[in-house]
Amino acid sequence: MMHERRIWSVTTIESAEELARKLTESTWTLCTAFEHRGHLFLNDATSEDSAQEYAVVKRLGDGTFLQVESITFGWCSFDRALGYVLHATGGRDDGGDFATHVNPRLETADQHRRCPLCG
Ligand SMILES: [Zn+2]
Repeated sequence: MMHERRIWSVTTIESAEELARKLTESTWTLCTAFEHRGHLFLNDATSEDSAQEYAVVKRLGDGTFLQVESITFGWCSFDRALGYVLHATGGRDDGGDFATHVNPRLETADQHRRCPLCG
């Protein structure tokens, strides 16, 4: 379940390998989000100590958002995480039963600066 009140600070990541490395090798603050190839990976964990779960959200052409996946990257190897990233950004999850419209609150890192989750 996505955190409706959370405001995410979005950083664009160009390479799938770099994104997979970030998602598996580090624990990020709860307001961290990565954008890669039109998809957002929003930290959806309930606390920094819990499993690093990410909501995978596609940015649609009309400015709305579709959540296509929820993945616990904290339990993934690098190879597995890379597979998930490529699968999601390849659009193969888009028509799945899981897909649901969401309305995440997003900021750039400059806009975000600091919130109770990362302050
Ligand atoms: Zn924050």
